Amino acid sequence: MSAERSRRIAVIGGGVSGLTAAREAALIGGSGTEVSLLEAADRLGGRIRRETLAGVPIDIGAEAFATRGGGVAELLAELGIEAEIVPPAKLGSWVIAGARAVRLPAAGTAGIPAEPLSRESRRALGLPGSVRAAAERLLPRRVGARSESLAELVRVRLGRRVLERLVGPVVLGVHSTDPSRLTLSSIPGLAQAYARRGSLVVAARELRDGASAAGGAVAGLRDGMTTLTDALAAELGRLGVKARTGVAVERIERRAGAWALLDAEGRELDRAEGVVLAVPEEAARTVLGAPAAEEASSRVEVVALALEEPLLDSAPRGTGALVAGTGDGVRRGIAAKALTHVTAKWPERARRAGSGLHLLRVSYGRAGSPPETAGLGDAAVQRIALNDASRILGVELRAESLRGMVRREWRTNAPPGARGREGSVDPPLAAPPGTVLIGDWVSGTGLASVIPAARAAARQLLHAPNDEGTSRT
Ligand SMILES: Cc1cc2nc3c(=O)[nH]c(=O)nc-3n(C[C@H](O)[C@H](O)[C@H](O)COP(=O)(O)OP(=O)(O)OC[C@H]3O[C@@H](n4cnc5c(N)ncnc54)[C@H](O)[C@@H]3O)c2cc1C
Repeated sequence: MSAERSRRIAVIGGGVSGLTAAREAALIGGSGTEVSLLEAADRLGGRIRRETLAGVPIDIGAEAFATRGGGVAELLAELGIEAEIVPPAKLGSWVIAGARAVRLPAAGTAGIPAEPLSRESRRALGLPGSVRAAAERLLPRRVGARSESLAELVRVRLGRRVLERLVGPVVLGVHSTDPSRLTLSSIPGLAQAYARRGSLVVAARELRDGASAAGGAVAGLRDGMTTLTDALAAELGRLGVKARTGVAVERIERRAGAWALLDAEGRELDRAEGVVLAVPEEAARTVLGAPAAEEASSRVEVVALALEEPLLDSAPRGTGALVAGTGDGVRRGIAAKALTHVTAKWPERARRAGSGLHLLRVSYGRAGSPPETAGLGDAAVQRIALNDASRILGVELRAESLRGMVRREWRTNAPPGARGREGSVDPPLAAPPGTVLIGDWVSGTGLASVIPAARAAARQLLHAPNDEGTSRT
């Protein structure tokens, strides 16, 4: 495909990956390129979604982005919305491990402490655990070289306490799975930094310093992450991209030198020379007629609560807390895996909520089992979430304080290199010629990974002149 010839590009999936890829294709393809986007749901945005709770907007899906790499900020600047970027409050977050609530050591990667001997690390790990982790720098590279999972590598190099009290809860909170199912390469940037530095602690420090150079590890948007997807959708309109919602693509097949996109009844929805599959792995496998993966995704549920409760004014767990799941960190009567104190984390949201009103997000679900709230009615979920929030925050929250609740179930994709229940890793899905695959199951969880990958994929598909963008993959 030359850059000059007229061609059609179809993007399947209207989450942030698909929206970004469609914009990139329309921008670099120029007038000779016709771009269309087909989204199965009745709205664009995918796992970025805003709800209104007690009159205050709240992200019920992704709520922040990692600043690593600068790719998200770059896109926001191009869209003219960089002024909307807001930092989270510097309150830190906590880990609930058994009966203990401890501050999460600042700016570790996947829970790996960058400063194992800091006061926070010593509190979280105890002195023996801290010293054990600090000694990791002195271990030769061969220690852990045969490890088959992130859990094994962390246990061998940093010790059991780091695994159970820090890495386990953080990985569960972010990836909805256990570190025994992940490899080092599942955590964006970590494998490369570890290969360079030969120490997990030094690698975590390097990634931390990179993040602080970017102004902090994560950031959000003043009115929530839908500001990004709304801006992308608006720009697609200006660029002449035909975006359709409520249109599910069931499969694609070769017809007359192009790809025909078909619905479940075999009707042709679109035809294009290049196809971007910006859908979850399960859908991509269906569309390409590939066998299903063992465990491509897991279910999670986010329950958001609005509470009028002055005891929360002091933000007792900072911006929120992660709950340890196994071993040393056995959970005591808490079904949730994480809680975000939204109004403590995002000052703008607190201003909107007004004095006394607090918004909490309580998350459920881990790989291999449905969320503890699945299938339950609102009254039961409200009871469970209030109980969990009370235990996590160390504050008795009463149903009378509740001013509203919204809940939504999501599917999270297993990151690249993740293992299924039987311990096997599915062979990666191959993209046939003229197609590209994007999304967090391809490039790693989170907007900082999927946005640069979506842009690079669009360029790859168009064979654009390699002037600036391809190195961002
Ligand atoms: C609860 C939760 C919290 C999160 N928090 C954060 C966070 O704070 N920071 C962060 O960086 N990341 C976070 N993430 C991850 C982040 O949301 C995702 O990495 C990102 O949104 C993925 O975007 P995507 O476009 O690749 O996929 P999706 O958003 O899943 O989009 C895929 C789209 O494809 C559509 N589709 C599926 N099948 C078909 C079909 N057959 N035909 C047409 N369309 C189809 C779907 O309807 C969907 O709209 C979170 C995720 C969840 C679930």
